[in-house]
Amino acid sequence: MGLFKPAWMSDNEEKAVRAVEKTTDLYTLIDIAKQGKGNLVLMKTVMKLGKIETFDKNKVKMINRAAELAIERITDQKILSVVVINCDYGSSFALKKIRDQRVIYDIAQSARGELLRIDAVKELSDQEMLSNIAKNNKESILRICAAEKLTDKALAQEVFADIAKKEETCRMRAIGNLTNQSVLEEIAGEAGTLPRSYQEKAIEMLIDQPALERIAQCDSVYLNIRLSAIEKITNQSVLADLARNSHDDLSVSLAAVDRLADQSALAEIAENSNYCFEIRSAAVGKLTDLPTLTILASVPSKEPIKYRRSAPSSADYISLCKCATERLIDLRNQSIIQKREEICKGEHNWKFIKREGRSYNDGAVQELYAIYKCQRCGKIQNDSGEFWSDD
Ligand SMILES: [Zn+2]
Repeated sequence: MGLFKPAWMSDNEEKAVRAVEKTTDLYTLIDIAKQGKGNLVLMKTVMKLGKIETFDKNKVKMINRAAELAIERITDQKILSVVVINCDYGSSFALKKIRDQRVIYDIAQSARGELLRIDAVKELSDQEMLSNIAKNNKESILRICAAEKLTDKALAQEVFADIAKKEETCRMRAIGNLTNQSVLEEIAGEAGTLPRSYQEKAIEMLIDQPALERIAQCDSVYLNIRLSAIEKITNQSVLADLARNSHDDLSVSLAAVDRLADQSALAEIAENSNYCFEIRSAAVGKLTDLPTLTILASVPSKEPIKYRRSAPSSADYISLCKCATERLIDLRNQSIIQKREEICKGEHNWKFIKREGRSYNDGAVQELYAIYKCQRCGKIQNDSGEFWSDD
């Protein structure tokens, strides 16, 4: 340093602070941020930097960098908190330097910007302070941020349930945090008052099987919520019961059949003429039991038809026989394909058979394929690798 020593470098703190207060020049303030001494001088520098009005992006960057340089050198926790609460630049940077939980707690309660208050809660680890914010703060967003950091999970669940049921904001996030199954069941099953998306989130979070069963069975619950519940039910006898007894809505029965794998339950539903055609044919589509399918595929002279939902109709019955026949053919083809793959394991021994056209309904033959047959397993396909029927 030469002969001239600026006043802001004075060892007298009061004198140095006064000099900073008089400074309005950005470049001088940058110098002070780099070389100024003492917490007060540095804090005043950050404040003065915030008073520079500019729309020049480069200057804004320079101000930010200078503010961070000054803050980096502030060690006093109280002074850092003044910077966080009062300064336009560097407040979140200063927040990260605060170690005193009590100071962070005050910032969380009183900082002007919502983002800053949220950031402060994220920096808190003191459980008593977090639980106080989670229980008593008037802002849902701060309550939820605090609850997410609580080690007392039971208390956290109470806060999430409270926000999920009562608050205007942050409901979705609260439901997403809920593990309390009875609260989730209550929200999912509530019809009419809540927006549908909250119930969808609740059913997504619900895992308790008896609760899912109750939702699926309850005809006052929204249909799509009931269907989502069925998607998560694993108990086969519950699913069979839903398939048989959901008198109010056919789609509930069909969704339950779709989840059924139990062959004896499926056979019972397929064979029982008390059920309507839609449910019986859906059950047929899930049967793998060949003897049952064979019986269903053969039309007896007379079936004691007492349809529950649709009027008795022999057309329905014939359609059911057709379903069973198609299912048998599907299963046979599947087993043939499976056997062929077991023989060749994808390494077929192709031999060219013929060239054939694909014909369309109007009789036009639009494409010609080369047809190949495997010499080992008998699989037939065209030159695009598509399966080609044997006949
Ligand atoms: Zn083969």
